[in-house]
Amino acid sequence: MRRILNFIDGDYRDSARHFDDINPATGEKVAIVSEAGEADVADAVAAARAAMNGPWGDSTVEDRAALLHKVADGVIARLDDFVAAEMADTGKPLMPTKMGEIPRAAEQFRTFAEVGRMTPLESFETRLPDGGRAMNVAERTPKGVVAAICPWNLPFILMTWKVAPALICGNAVVVKPSEETPATAALLGEVMKAAGIPKGVYNVVHGFGPGSAGAFLTAHPDVDAITFTGETRTGEAIMKAAAVGIRDISLELGGKNAGILFADCDFEAAIRTEAMAAFFNCGQICLGNERLYVERAIYDRTVEAMTKAAKSFAPGDPMDKATRLGPLSSHGHRDKVLGYFKAARDAGAEVHAGGVIPDMPAPFDGGAWVEPTVWTGLAQKSVPVQEEVFGPVTHIMPFDDADEAIALANDSPYGLAGTIWTKDMSRAHHVASRRRVGALWVNSWMIRDLRTPFGGMKASGIGREGGAASLHFYSEIRNICTRL
Ligand code: NAD
Repeated sequence: MRRILNFIDGDYRDSARHFDDINPATGEKVAIVSEAGEADVADAVAAARAAMNGPWGDSTVEDRAALLHKVADGVIARLDDFVAAEMADTGKPLMPTKMGEIPRAAEQFRTFAEVGRMTPLESFETRLPDGGRAMNVAERTPKGVVAAICPWNLPFILMTWKVAPALICGNAVVVKPSEETPATAALLGEVMKAAGIPKGVYNVVHGFGPGSAGAFLTAHPDVDAITFTGETRTGEAIMKAAAVGIRDISLELGGKNAGILFADCDFEAAIRTEAMAAFFNCGQICLGNERLYVERAIYDRTVEAMTKAAKSFAPGDPMDKATRLGPLSSHGHRDKVLGYFKAARDAGAEVHAGGVIPDMPAPFDGGAWVEPTVWTGLAQKSVPVQEEVFGPVTHIMPFDDADEAIALANDSPYGLAGTIWTKDMSRAHHVASRRRVGALWVNSWMIRDLRTPFGGMKASGIGREGGAASLHFYSEIRNICTRL
């Protein structure tokens, strides 16, 4: 059986305890994972600190950018290994993993290398009362040891989204991948080593949250900053841990995003895109839409078209190039999603598509599959319309004017993202600026330029990452004032 080990101080290391890695497409065990104990986590943090005190701490952004490009090359050179590892952990279909997710993760190393190299800092010349001058120069220094706690839905992308900017800023990282998806973070250790990243700069500890590697890492006093992507409730626990010792924190949390469709929109494009926003990655995308508010004149057409689109996302063998829908990430997560299917039925939803487990042939009959699901008729305040399902679901509701649509879309504890569909650009801008979310797409969805700021409002998070915002989080900017 394949083993997935911790990566500490430049080498792979086993632990006393282990847990199983399950492929959710089949339910089969695919690997045995080392669960880092408190001492392993302490060793990883110590290795990171030692790296900061060594030549890495003295490196320039040019040095680090060159290394990050080598890491990107190394990921692409081993594309098939990363694709196989990610698919075994998640059950994701082949094509989006091979053509999208893994190359995109490699691209993040290149982009942040260039963002780091090219982003200038301010300087001010100051006139002094005695007629002399002083020069103020802002300088960027690393935060130090960064803990990166990562989720399972886009494991390699969301992990490298943290690691690449952390490294270009000169930090050392300790990554805690999700217990559901440990493989690609571990494999990246080989690439880091081959690329010449010094030992201790990139470390990986496996395990769970409370009482395990996640909590050991966030509580460790020698961690300088914590970056977390995951559920809002976990974010609250991590924020408490970060308060001890006043460590900086970046939280990318849950969402309950909404799309707004006006009757003048390009209907075909809207439906094609909103179907992706609801069902792509089996609905396990923080930026996906689980709510659609539709101008009454096109409501019936929208329900019909989204129902047809849901049925076109048929689940199938992830290795088949035509498969668009994989399973949910685990049986535990499927139980949660099935709970929302039941809650929707109990609350009087009309189920136009899905709401059930599909019949899958062997060996997929043991997997965590669900059918893409379309609901109507739920009350705005009902649980399935308010809570994040994180599955392939959409609830469609009519509205009569823009004010009503904005109020309904904003009626959520979350504020991550959303979409607006209209040909009237003035209206689009007006609606966009009144939405309480961190990212809005007009006549589109999920165009993610890595240079743009990304993050949520309300319960969807604190802080921004992406482009210069990432540099801001992963560095301390200090001012050096010299009397000339
Ligand atoms: P999760 O919160 O259950 O777990 C995320 C990570 O935190 C895992 O590595 C887990 O082991 C660890 N963890 C759990 N409890 C911990 C604790 N007390 N201390 C330290 N670590 C702990 O999230 P998930 O289920 O893996 O991911 C799905 C969630 O992530 C959804 O809510 C989704 O919306 C959100 N998400 C948000 C974004 C974003 O950018 N805003 C992106 C992707 C996913």
